[in-house]
Amino acid sequence: MMIPTIPTPDELLDKGFRRGKKAADEVRSSKMPRRLKPKRIEEVRVVTACQVIKDRLKMINDRTPTVEDLPIFYQDYIDITVGIDDLKKSLGALNWAYGIISQLERDYSKKIRRYPPEKASQLRSQAYGRVASVAKKISKDLDFLDFAKSQLRNMPTIDFDATSIVIAGFPNVGKSTLLRQLTDAEPEVADYPFTTKGIQIGHIERNWKQIQIIDTPGLLDRPIVDMNDIEMNAMVALEDLADAILFIFDASETCGYTLEHQNNLLTEIQKVFSAPIIVLFNKIDIAGYETGSDRFDYIDKFIKMNDNPLLISASEGEGIDKILKVFDSVKKIDRNNDDY
Ligand code: GDP
Repeated sequence: MMIPTIPTPDELLDKGFRRGKKAADEVRSSKMPRRLKPKRIEEVRVVTACQVIKDRLKMINDRTPTVEDLPIFYQDYIDITVGIDDLKKSLGALNWAYGIISQLERDYSKKIRRYPPEKASQLRSQAYGRVASVAKKISKDLDFLDFAKSQLRNMPTIDFDATSIVIAGFPNVGKSTLLRQLTDAEPEVADYPFTTKGIQIGHIERNWKQIQIIDTPGLLDRPIVDMNDIEMNAMVALEDLADAILFIFDASETCGYTLEHQNNLLTEIQKVFSAPIIVLFNKIDIAGYETGSDRFDYIDKFIKMNDNPLLISASEGEGIDKILKVFDSVKKIDRNNDDY
């Protein structure tokens, strides 16, 4: 998410006061009755400084997207990463500062006009003091926004118009190998607050249909009972996004998990996700899946538990076309209707 550059209170004030001084210098060198000048100089100085500071505050508020307008996926992301309430509170504080500075601008320009010229400079300095104390009061909020900016810098770019396929399966079953095989370009790697390993997104275009494949290492690769609240939230966010789940078995069990274990994970994922689940068995090249062998019967038992799963070898590029064909039939889930 794009939060604009956030100044420190000092940077905010420096810029305002510098511009105020410049504007005042222009008045000083302009043609004007001498006796009007002192008041005019100080008034311009106050008004310009306040305007510049207000513009900056307003720009930050305007350019920061309204969280409620963002897709749920990003709302969850922001909430976990920086906290939506804290973000709103900080933006609210900037808004508050804007209001107070507007008030000071009005009050002090009026005073400068009404008071004798020899008071003008003193009033301006008083106005500056009060503006500075407003800026100090939002110091924590500016800090927070700067932190939020850095935290949200590498947010994943999700294409909400694309059909989304979320990959699941235990570690080392071949998820990232497959993702690379399925997509032409290198998958985009972005931060994902729910796991330390980030999120990988690959894009495919098929018959003018945009498909994005999402792998979340460290999330959909272990039993759901082991998940904490944050990870459960991440699941909900993915559930909200997924048009289909691509569940990967490692038929060779070289990932270190038995087919039984892997099947249990699939069962859990079936319970959580309402999207259709595409099941495939990977590493068929080293699985010992040869007719007549004990290994064949053993693997076949798990294959038969699923409805026509695909048998592939991601590292050998075997079966990739079959997967892409299945993707063609995935329908984008319409989540804009009322009962959703
Ligand atoms: P991930 O943790 O699920 O993303 O798994 P990786 O894609 O990192 O793969 C784990 C290991 O399995 C790597 O060493 C891959 O080269 C290997 N691998 C992946 N797919 C296959 C396959 O189809 N056949 C064989 N023999 N090895 C594979």
